[in-house]
Amino acid sequence: MSEVKPVSQKLPDYGTRTDEIAIFAGPCSVESEEQFNEVAECIAGLGLHWIRGGAFKPRTNPHSFQGLGEEALQIMKAGGEKYGLKTLTEVMDSEHCEMVHSYVDGLQVGARNFQNFSLLKNIGKVTKDSHKMVLFKRGFAGTIAEWLAATDYITMAGNDNVVLCERGLRTFETATRFTLDISAVPVIHKQSLYPICVDVSHPAGVRDLVPALARAAVAVGADSIMIEVHPNPPAALSDGPQQLTPAQFTDLITDLRELAAVFGKK
Ligand code: PEP
Ligand code: MN
Repeated sequence: MSEVKPVSQKLPDYGTRTDEIAIFAGPCSVESEEQFNEVAECIAGLGLHWIRGGAFKPRTNPHSFQGLGEEALQIMKAGGEKYGLKTLTEVMDSEHCEMVHSYVDGLQVGARNFQNFSLLKNIGKVTKDSHKMVLFKRGFAGTIAEWLAATDYITMAGNDNVVLCERGLRTFETATRFTLDISAVPVIHKQSLYPICVDVSHPAGVRDLVPALARAAVAVGADSIMIEVHPNPPAALSDGPQQLTPAQFTDLITDLRELAAVFGKK
């Protein structure tokens, strides 16, 4: 087995290559304080450290819910502080970088912005002093070489606290929403020093496939896992079919902890 070197010893809970698999769970979209805090309570109760949530949503259809914007960031900041969780959200526009950076602990680049190089450069610039985590998703038609090359746009300003995130590719297959490239995990470990997260919700598209993909992510050696959780998925304003209830998420974490132990992780 090849030696795995930690990217940064300074930030062990940021999804880096340590013995702890970080979990980035939370709703697809932040919809209200009550909704967000219900998920936060569940996550904190499980002893996890991060909550994710969408404030600015990259929706295919402009008539779909676009996110609550700054109001969502306020809800995340308050909820994160209340439950002792770090917060992660997507930044879609260069003009929002500073604002998003001022509210959350981690900034996400979504699949659709994977080659938005000016956004990547701006995210690098706003995080250069804070070294806040940047979770950089692979585009759904991007090669690993393109992904690693684009990562340099973020890091060249001086922040190398980047977590790469595999979230599934667009292929001919329609039985799943996207085809999860599980091989990306060992390839990234071989070709880079960055930790790799596997988003198991967006490739699944439906909640009953999420546990199997999450177990695969643990078994393949993922450094972190992203899972969407909503208090009432049928009423969700985005990605309802793939979100787990807090009870389903709790069961899954219990399972994943047992499996992680087999690999000497927690
Ligand atoms: C998300 O994580 O909320 C999201 C929109 O993901 P992606 O960019 O992978 O589609
Ligand atoms: Mn989503």
